[in-house]
Amino acid sequence: MTHALGDFLALSRQHPWYLSPSVYSLPCGTAAQIWDTGVLCLEPDNPAGRDLIISCGIHGNETAPIELCEALLHRLISGELTCRQRVLFIFGNPAAMNAAVRELDENLNRLFSGAHAEGNEVNQERKRAALLESYVTRFFSVREHAERLHYDLHTAIRPSQREKFAVYPYLHGAPYSRAQLALLQAAGINTVLLAHEPTTTFSYFSAHRFNAHAFTLELGKVMPFGDNDLTRLTALNQCLEALISEPGWQPPPLTPEHLDVFAVSQEIVKNTDDFALCFNNDVSNFTEFEQGVLLATDQQQQWHVQQEREAVVFPNAGVACGQRAALMVVPVSSFTLPLR
Ligand SMILES: [Zn+2]
Repeated sequence: MTHALGDFLALSRQHPWYLSPSVYSLPCGTAAQIWDTGVLCLEPDNPAGRDLIISCGIHGNETAPIELCEALLHRLISGELTCRQRVLFIFGNPAAMNAAVRELDENLNRLFSGAHAEGNEVNQERKRAALLESYVTRFFSVREHAERLHYDLHTAIRPSQREKFAVYPYLHGAPYSRAQLALLQAAGINTVLLAHEPTTTFSYFSAHRFNAHAFTLELGKVMPFGDNDLTRLTALNQCLEALISEPGWQPPPLTPEHLDVFAVSQEIVKNTDDFALCFNNDVSNFTEFEQGVLLATDQQQQWHVQQEREAVVFPNAGVACGQRAALMVVPVSSFTLPLR
């Protein structure tokens, strides 16, 4: 595979545009530099104060965000949309995208913050994670005082009782950003899950290493290319366009009464191959269980619902041993969140 952004799209998508040179100029004069397959850096001559990373396809079959990013690029390339900020577009896992699978060897979104280098295994996702870390570092290292933003766009394997939700990476006790929560609301995302510890996700990497406002955004359910209803992402798309083209744009103020915030109550970890979840495999994200209900077993170990209104997120009994098989969450008041 060559290093032209259009190539991997053209391979799987019969994409109508093609970028052959590595540096290209958008109609608004912004330089568009291809750093690698699926990695495109846009730099206007006089960029405003935000450095924005938009990533998609970290899981190759999560197509709606890929289509949304393609459409954004189309409008930039056609001149409909003017680029006024530095923007890095990342199509995360092109090899998996072309194969229409979530991953080839390993979950790419568990390989950041150096996890790609642990152990002796070398595979496509590990190589890609190391490269993506280097591109994020290169992008964010140019300016020290820009507002750093990273939105990592996903769709979930399973249905969700809350169609869209954001995972706010662990901030090590720092307050949450009022402006960013307001932006999520403007983007149609009114559910936020607060991570309770450091992770090896892409968004935690940007948040922790570069002090970026970074989020994993879950935007609905996985569908094949072409089967997505992008009108469900119109609000998010409008926010991204405003961030790209309107310096100083701010979302409407936060309305905490419409924001549902969840904190992690317990983590269910698969330790052996005897592990089993005690509920249907197709249960929706954010399904609540009654206090005391048995959730999972692994040899002698048992997990029960500990608190009232505990709900399950990301259940997956098929993960590798040692990995998280489900997260249990409880609602917390958005009025008591420490904000800055
Ligand atoms: Zn994903």
